[in-house]
Amino acid sequence: MIKGFVHSLQSLGTVDGPGVRFVVFLQGCPLRCKCCHNPDTWEINSGTEYTAEEIVGKVKRYKSYFGKDGGITLSGGEPLLQPDFAREIFSLCKEDGINTCLDTSGIRLDDSVKALLKLTDRVLLDVKYTSDEQYRENVGCDMKRVIDFLSYLNENSIPVTLRQVIIPTVNDSEENIKKLKEIIKAYPVIDKTELLPFRKICQTKYDNMGLNFPFGSVPEADAELIKGLYSILETAP
Ligand code: SF4
Repeated sequence: MIKGFVHSLQSLGTVDGPGVRFVVFLQGCPLRCKCCHNPDTWEINSGTEYTAEEIVGKVKRYKSYFGKDGGITLSGGEPLLQPDFAREIFSLCKEDGINTCLDTSGIRLDDSVKALLKLTDRVLLDVKYTSDEQYRENVGCDMKRVIDFLSYLNENSIPVTLRQVIIPTVNDSEENIKKLKEIIKAYPVIDKTELLPFRKICQTKYDNMGLNFPFGSVPEADAELIKGLYSILETAP
């Protein structure tokens, strides 16, 4: 029986993948993104322990709400830190005809992750920046890892929703959006792109944890900015 560490559960989510979804936020993340909204998910081997059966038992109760597009989303933290647990959850969901979505930063690609991806209907891939320099400075890893992950998804025809949090003064430039468009064009498996506004409601979490929020002084993104960047994305060659 495979067990894993869970941060929290959201029974009827509408922003993490298509349709209505049961979202499982797994505990643990090896990265330290400066824009992170969930520092409370970082610690590894903490949170609540569940078996995969227990999680899927909860998911099944909401099946009637999923309709044709909805299902389960594994998010985090970073779900790739617990690939065997995630795979077992998806395997049980598949037996029951439940659509599977994986929300990840795409930083790990080994055999256990590949086994998980075989059972994944869609990946929500956070491409946080479009330059290696910004990845190293603001995430703490090489961008190549994410691009290698995306290449694998492309080769294996696993549909991808590309997501990027737009952070004013950091990645809200026209140049960044044009580079994002180049990535979208290079990997046809990306069939949807979401630009998400940077928000600072997580400041309280950092304060309560006694941590500095590195982007605490960066302004939030407003709807006008996001709208303008979407239009650059659409019209860029
Ligand atoms: S990958 Fe996600 S959970 Fe991990 S530090 Fe970055 S934003 Fe936070």
